[in-house]
Amino acid sequence: MIKQAAVYTGKAKTVYATDDPELFVMEYRDDATAFNGVKKAALDRKGKVNNYFNAHVMQVLEHQGIKTHFVKLLSDNESLVKKLDMIKVECVIRNVVAGGISKRLGIEEGMVLPEPTFEFFLKDDALGDPIINESHIHVFKWATDAEVTELKRKTFLVNDILKAWFATAGLTLVDFKLEFGRHHGELLLGDEFTLDGCRVWDAVTQEKFDKDRFRRDLGNVIEFYEAAAKRLGINIPE
Ligand code: ADP
Ligand code: UDP
Repeated sequence: MIKQAAVYTGKAKTVYATDDPELFVMEYRDDATAFNGVKKAALDRKGKVNNYFNAHVMQVLEHQGIKTHFVKLLSDNESLVKKLDMIKVECVIRNVVAGGISKRLGIEEGMVLPEPTFEFFLKDDALGDPIINESHIHVFKWATDAEVTELKRKTFLVNDILKAWFATAGLTLVDFKLEFGRHHGELLLGDEFTLDGCRVWDAVTQEKFDKDRFRRDLGNVIEFYEAAAKRLGINIPE
């Protein structure tokens, strides 16, 4: 496999073509962004920590029957993935109120929900990723009705698997975002599952182990990412 030109440079990752038209190299950079790219920083080791964290989570999910784009780790900062035709909606599940829903609906952060909520957002930086509903997805043909059913089913399954795993490490999975894409007629989990795209709190003290440390200037961002990885048994080489 030979890495070729970058096909997409996002806020935290760069995607490269390869000599195999079915495969991409995903490079995790040290860049951190928040508030739709308004706040930016470079955080030492972030790319490496996220690359290993994501690889481990994707492998756990595969073992539990969730098909993903992840193929293998290539280096500290790179993974090989299957090229997907990305669905431009983000799937968000919340187990506890935090962040966007707290502001939008005026509900205090920390309320444990009696059951998880599901939300769709349109993946569009220029519009600030607005919240959308199934009717919008249907009318604007961002995904078929069958795909919408699958997006929700798979996202809820991921929640069940990860919530239970994280709980064994004394961590609460508060909320998270997933992206999926089409691959030979199948929906695969794409993009990443890292502490950049979820909220994870200590189950007892509610200390934050996720990107809110960066968003809210709480400090020691990568130290907490590594501490969460350690608790979960995810090995990140020195
Ligand atoms: P953003 O675009 O939000 O700034 P990133 O910096 O994480 O995000 O860039 C990664 C980009 O690659 C995202 O647009 C994501 O949708 C896309 N992507 C993720 N996985 C795949 C895949 N397997 N095939 C094609 N594109 C992917
Ligand atoms: N999220 C993400 N990318 C986005 C939007 C949200 O990874 O573009 C994640 C975010 O980290 C959190 C969850 O999805 O874990 C819910 O995000 P929320 O709607 O609360 O928005 P935020 O306040 O994080 O911008």
